[in-house]
Amino acid sequence: MIIVTKAGATREDIDHIRERVESLGLRTHLSVGEHRTIIGCVGDEARLQSIPLLSIPGVEAVHEVLKPYKLASREFSGGETRIPLGHGEIGPDGFSVIAGPCSVEGFDMMQSTARHVSASGAAGVRGGAFKPRSSPYSFQGLGEEGLRILAAVREETGLPVVTEVMDTRQVELVAGYADVLQIGARNMQNFALLTEVGRLHRPVLLKRGMSATIKDLLLAAEYVMSQGNMQVILCERGIRTFETATRNTFDLAAIPVLKRETHLPVFADPSHAGGSRALVPPLSYAAAAAGADGLLVEVHPDPERATSDGDQSLSFSEFEALMNGLTPFVEAVGRAVATAV
Ligand code: PEP
Ligand code: MN
Repeated sequence: MIIVTKAGATREDIDHIRERVESLGLRTHLSVGEHRTIIGCVGDEARLQSIPLLSIPGVEAVHEVLKPYKLASREFSGGETRIPLGHGEIGPDGFSVIAGPCSVEGFDMMQSTARHVSASGAAGVRGGAFKPRSSPYSFQGLGEEGLRILAAVREETGLPVVTEVMDTRQVELVAGYADVLQIGARNMQNFALLTEVGRLHRPVLLKRGMSATIKDLLLAAEYVMSQGNMQVILCERGIRTFETATRNTFDLAAIPVLKRETHLPVFADPSHAGGSRALVPPLSYAAAAAGADGLLVEVHPDPERATSDGDQSLSFSEFEALMNGLTPFVEAVGRAVATAV
């Protein structure tokens, strides 16, 4: 259920509405828009029938949200969600590109990557310290040492850091270093992990599971938000289909569908979607044109020697060319490339 307040509703009116709803055992979430405030009510909505909501001072309208995801749904918000990132933000005006290697392999490669992607206009740097690998014998990441490297690189370049958390037992550790916690495709429906990151006040980059529907992705975001953390960035990274010519099938339509369904920012990951460096520019341009709020791109100083995902990683010069190529697409949709430093 959402309660839309009158234009002139005061702080006291809003507090009073929330108290009435919460006294029935429901939880409320406030979304303050430019012209109106929306009070989202989650819990046993049948209980709300016992009070005449429309007669409470300051209430303009009451709407039922029929979607299974409530806090993530567009109706629940007074506008697009903007998420601070470094000195900038992820949101509807800009286009934020977060770039870096699949895995943190050492300090020098991380430092040179961060310097280069920053110079080319990236808004953040990525790098996995804990890696979800299909084989237990593949490189699993540097763990805490990788996190320390990321923090050192942020210190030097000012670029905010995005890194994956794979397990509830790592949440505190990773949150001690990361600006944005990435939840990977394989963990999109790890409900315990979603709940745990939902208790933090730290942005979460939630990647779509390989066989997850758009509704599944939004319900996964709802898990995080239901714990109080509203800072969720959704990421389309390709899904598994019968097609074998690409690593995954990039679901371009998911971008406008998500933009229609939710107020949360939507990213695309052209690296994992296509699985090859040649596909990164066209998929990136398509994502920008389709309305994405940003990209997560793999970049490596020497892709040929990368410990993971070298085939889909861009070199520094290829990344620079990507950023230059993106500009007209980003401008065509009324945005500007957003930097964080
Ligand atoms: C990654 O970002 O390196 C990664 C493992 O992505 P995904 O979870 O989308 O496979
Ligand atoms: Mn990767």
